[in-house]
Amino acid sequence: MTNIQAVLNAILSKNIFEYLLIDKAFTISRTSLGVLKYMDSIPKEGESVLKHIPEFSGYEEIIEKAFTFKDFSYQFKTVHKNGYYVNISIDHYDEKTALVLFQNITEVTQSQQKLLQYSNETTLLYSALQKIIDQQNTLLFLVDSQDKIEFANQKCIEYFKAKDLNELQTMDLKLYHYYDPALKSYYELFKRIKDEETHIAINDDIFIVHATCIESTFTLFTLSEVTNIYRKKKSLEVEVQLDTLTNIYNKAYFEKRLEEELISSRPFALVVVDIDDFKKINDTFGHQAGDTVLQEFSLLLKNNLRESDILARWGGEEFLILLKGANEAIATQKIEKLRQEVETFDFTKVGHLSASFGIACKEESDDDESLLLRADKALYEAKHQGKNRVVVKKIKKINI
Ligand code: GH3
Ligand code: MG
Ligand code: MG
Repeated sequence: MTNIQAVLNAILSKNIFEYLLIDKAFTISRTSLGVLKYMDSIPKEGESVLKHIPEFSGYEEIIEKAFTFKDFSYQFKTVHKNGYYVNISIDHYDEKTALVLFQNITEVTQSQQKLLQYSNETTLLYSALQKIIDQQNTLLFLVDSQDKIEFANQKCIEYFKAKDLNELQTMDLKLYHYYDPALKSYYELFKRIKDEETHIAINDDIFIVHATCIESTFTLFTLSEVTNIYRKKKSLEVEVQLDTLTNIYNKAYFEKRLEEELISSRPFALVVVDIDDFKKINDTFGHQAGDTVLQEFSLLLKNNLRESDILARWGGEEFLILLKGANEAIATQKIEKLRQEVETFDFTKVGHLSASFGIACKEESDDDESLLLRADKALYEAKHQGKNRVVVKKIKKINI
């Protein structure tokens, strides 16, 4: 008995095991104190073990083997008793005695359950994230430090017409080439575009690209398709700067470009154009015909100017031209030629008409106001001198 007692005490000191000893008649010969917590009543020596452990009913044959076979050990199913999870096993002690062990696995079970729950939650979270990622109207992919696409969402796989991620990986897309053909890797693309909003065009689609570093070895790229928004924005931008009747630039746009040109130190000429006797055209042929003249007149000017020159409608039948790089001689020559083009052009409905031109070439002290004023004064002089002519106005030099 001392022997078994020592062993049992050692086991008990771990506070995990409790025990019962039973004899061949299944009567209890000894119990550890803690066994009570797994029982409905206090087990007494001489009582049947079946009274206290009903789980043993039906297992009598197995229990009998514990007396016969030396290394016998049988583990019953885990039972839940009085709030404890307990593993009950029956072991051979000697031919007259069997050892019933109660192993308290409550804590282990609970932490296992928590673990299970946690892993369930993680799985749930993962599959929810997967769904969200797949439903995004955004192409999303993750690239590792070897430039390999490690992950791509469904949208991305579908966009590049791949069956699955594996096929996408074999496709060698080199998407960074769409940004700049000189780039050699996704990492180079990341370095170029990080922290900024970048547009790239893939085939006919326009995407906003973002790159984010994840755990230093991965880069997450997102490509949001904005083709329609982008096109609309671009066309709106153009619309905003155009005059609705003539489709050439409006005054606001011209003024912006004039200021830009003034900041640069390049020479240029500013021209104000006014159709002669336009009131008469309106009065004779009607306002509608007047409108058509304005449209044809605009087109005529545009066709006789360079791409780099800026033509705008100032208002009414007055127009502005910015001749880039032109000095007085060049400007005069060009505008004189333009005057002749107008004079000889056959306008639908109204036939021939003429226009007057006032030129001011940029001088050092000029700002936009002084330039416009001088060009307007030149135009006034052209009108005053009899219309259908070109006048250049310079800043008067005061001799001291
Ligand atoms: P001048 O030779 O001195 O320039 O005489 P003008 O008759 O051309 O000049 P004025 O400024 O007196 O008249 C301009 C006219 O242009 C007056 C206005 O009714 C007309 N006009 C202004 N804007 C438009 C427009 O958008 N369409 C039409 N059809 N006429 C316009
Ligand atoms: Mg006028
Ligand atoms: Mg006029």
